Amino acid sequence: MAILEIKKAGDPVLKKHCEPVERVNKKLKQLLDDMAETMYKSDGVGLAAPQVGVPLRMVVIDCQDETGLIELINPVITYREGEMEGSEGCLSVPGIYGDVMRAAKVKVEYLNRRGKVQHLTATGLLSRCIQHELDHLEGQLFIDIATSLRKED
Ligand SMILES: [Zn+2]
Repeated sequence: MAILEIKKAGDPVLKKHCEPVERVNKKLKQLLDDMAETMYKSDGVGLAAPQVGVPLRMVVIDCQDETGLIELINPVITYREGEMEGSEGCLSVPGIYGDVMRAAKVKVEYLNRRGKVQHLTATGLLSRCIQHELDHLEGQLFIDIATSLRKED
């Protein structure tokens, strides 16, 4: 496994509309492993492939809840319910935090690394994290949609 370089806001790869994954080959499984290791090393709760310079629709998330580490390949939100506002940060925007309005509950459909279709219903932090990471796949950063921003060390 390897720690990958995290791209920072201003890098054009973070503005890209990412391409779907056609097949999860050995190289992409390695990338998922490296993304998870990079996320844990950076104390993040999620990381999207474009954040490590790869414009593909892959995300890793671990909100340190009972769900544990999840790998979302070609994820699509199929249902949204309610609203919640809360604080977000991003490994690509270090030191900046902001309040973002998100759906309170989402259902997401995705492929796992074996190419099997999976479904997940999420609320709370996991719901927020899924929406934040999926925005990365559309080239959107939370600072573009935050209702307020602040600097913190
Ligand atoms: Zn982010």
